[in-house]
Amino acid sequence: MLVQGERVAKLLAGSDNANVKDIVVEAVAQTGSTNADLMQRLPTLALPVLRVADCQSAGRGRAGRAWRTAPETSLTFSLAWRFERPLHALLGLPLAVGVALAEALQVLGVQAQLKWPNDVLRDGAKLAGVLIETAADGGAGQATWAVIGIGLNLGVPPDLEFELGRAIGAAPELQKQPRETVLAIITSALADVLVEFERYGFGAFIARWQAFHSYAGQPVKIIDNGRIVQEGIAAGVDVMGRFLIDTGAGQAAVLAGDVSLRLQEQAS
Ligand code: ATP
Repeated sequence: MLVQGERVAKLLAGSDNANVKDIVVEAVAQTGSTNADLMQRLPTLALPVLRVADCQSAGRGRAGRAWRTAPETSLTFSLAWRFERPLHALLGLPLAVGVALAEALQVLGVQAQLKWPNDVLRDGAKLAGVLIETAADGGAGQATWAVIGIGLNLGVPPDLEFELGRAIGAAPELQKQPRETVLAIITSALADVLVEFERYGFGAFIARWQAFHSYAGQPVKIIDNGRIVQEGIAAGVDVMGRFLIDTGAGQAAVLAGDVSLRLQEQAS
């Protein structure tokens, strides 16, 4: 197996980060999707669970799009985490997770940028994707479980650039480090961000998100079902995690939904 779960668990237990001490670590050689696995088990989970798979045969992005992986080049995992918050309070969560990833990558020596709403770029190409799925806790309170799925390209999956017709971001320098170390560092950053997010919401992360904003000040367009629905200059994000665009008619705030963000010069 490429990732040893016990080694990740040991690294987390041995760290001085109290936010990771309850996380249960599971590593499997193969599964369809770590997000799907955890979503299925949500009603029975008592503690946060980190599930990592060497090989995912049905990795998913937003709106059922596929996230493609290959065991040698990808690090794919999901973290199930319970928030003492109702669903609507988690709107900015994908962006906060992006901050955790970008900051952890920085610690690992990889300079990444964030593309709203859920992508991590390197030199303008997609290095990592985030998919968050949620379910009400089902108890008496207003708690919500979130399953936070992350796919990180250490290398470029074979043929993917050709198939997608665009460059793919990768972090080959991380392939020289034990995967367990990379995963523990990312999980630790993630847990800290989730605890802070639960307490203060996305407002506490706006400045940190903007520090990594890949399209800041650039002409962009928002595309919905192949149609341009908004154009202007990328201004940043607000407290709800909406994307702010300066248009000729003032500032517009765009909710993630299933829209796509592109630079003006990009084709689709
Ligand atoms: P877009 O990239 O078009 O803005 P999105 O941000 O909604 O869409 P996601 O749904 O999060 O993207 O991710 C799925 C998309 O990412 C796929 O449609 C494919 O274009 C691309 N993709 C799939 N696998 C990888 C990978 N390993 N690395 C980079 N990009 C990938």
